[in-house]
Amino acid sequence: MVLAIFVGAFIHMTCVVSVEPNVEFNAVGHTFISIFDYIGTIFMKLLKMIIVPLVFTSIVVGIAGLGKTSGFARLGGKTIGYYAFTSLIAILVGLTVVNVFKPGLTDGKPNEAILKQIEDNEEDYAGKLATKLTGQDGGFDAVTGLFLRMIPENIFEAFGANNKMLSLIFVSLLTGIGLIFISKDGRSPVFGFFKGLNELTLLITHWIMWLAPIGVFGLVAETTAQTGLPILALLAKYFLVVASALLIHLFVVMPLILKFVAKVSPVKHFYAMRSAILTAFSTASSSATLPVTMSALRENAGVSERVTSFVLPLGATVNMDGTALYECVAVMFVAQVLGFEMSFGTQFTVVMLALLTSVGVAGVPSASLVAITIIVYNVGIPNAEAVIGLILAVDRPLDMTRTAVNVFSDSCGAIVVAKSEGENVLEDWKEDVPEVSGT
Ligand code: ASP
Repeated sequence: MVLAIFVGAFIHMTCVVSVEPNVEFNAVGHTFISIFDYIGTIFMKLLKMIIVPLVFTSIVVGIAGLGKTSGFARLGGKTIGYYAFTSLIAILVGLTVVNVFKPGLTDGKPNEAILKQIEDNEEDYAGKLATKLTGQDGGFDAVTGLFLRMIPENIFEAFGANNKMLSLIFVSLLTGIGLIFISKDGRSPVFGFFKGLNELTLLITHWIMWLAPIGVFGLVAETTAQTGLPILALLAKYFLVVASALLIHLFVVMPLILKFVAKVSPVKHFYAMRSAILTAFSTASSSATLPVTMSALRENAGVSERVTSFVLPLGATVNMDGTALYECVAVMFVAQVLGFEMSFGTQFTVVMLALLTSVGVAGVPSASLVAITIIVYNVGIPNAEAVIGLILAVDRPLDMTRTAVNVFSDSCGAIVVAKSEGENVLEDWKEDVPEVSGT
């Protein structure tokens, strides 16, 4: 990753022909960027390829292997409670930081340089937002729509696309629970088949992770080479406010939850989850990271299959602390830049909408953009399209950071739930040492 940042920055500095507002590269720059993109895309596709069989077989084996249905409501209640609580805390962290540092204002007034940049390029930025929004088909679901979408028209639909995660979870839960109730003759071969398939998908995930250093290099080098520095300078305060709020949540709030609620060592957990955090950061997609998160939690942190398969697929879809925090800060920033007064009541609405919409945001790059646009419309901030279009210029690095926060929060949720279910996680934990019974 460090090498990628250096190489990407070097390409950006040497290959940019004209910088504002559209970054253009010379032929060498384009060639390098397309090579990085090619490598990164291969890695992302490999990860995405394995999501459906991994989630399906993990849930089925995790549930049917237990042989009883009791405890699911309890597990579900704890999981949802954790998601709602941590997302709310994340939003409040964001709200506090954005109100203290006010990145859209200078001396109490809307920042002139940002306003000028927007006025000069209004159509361009609004156009960029429109293009991004049309490209985000399937990136967002209203909360009520989630339940309807959860049930597929046809059972095989749930397996057909990565954005059908809730349908997949629903079908997997039905299959896992159903297997418990059918005859032993019927259950044994089906269960054995899914168990074998589950081991196989985990093994393939390991193979894909051998490519992680190269894949991560491609993704990060491309992002660094693409990000325009002048825009970064103009939006530096906004960038720093979002990044620090996300880092506070990642390095202060989450460790406190691990230490005092789950009573485990945060350092050990960070170490156990390092591959998942890095993958989330470089792919900017919680869904693509799911296979890595699942295997890191099981193998490095020692969380049971039952908890991992229940908490993580759901978390990758509905629990997005970083995204919820980001939505709140972005909406407040848009209001500040446009001089729109945000009363206490309006800020409360933003908090609630951020909480609800973060549930519907899909775990794919830039998905929160749709949610931000929805909140901005709902609180009635006029002419906001160009400002949202402007912040798109620095969206990728922030997306990478908030995705790492999203994934880490999911993994902490699994630890909290596992501990509350009496599991021994992260305790006698030794990396890569297979457990031998009786030792
Ligand atoms: N990229 C984020 C994720 O996958 C979603 C977002 O905030 O845009 O978790």
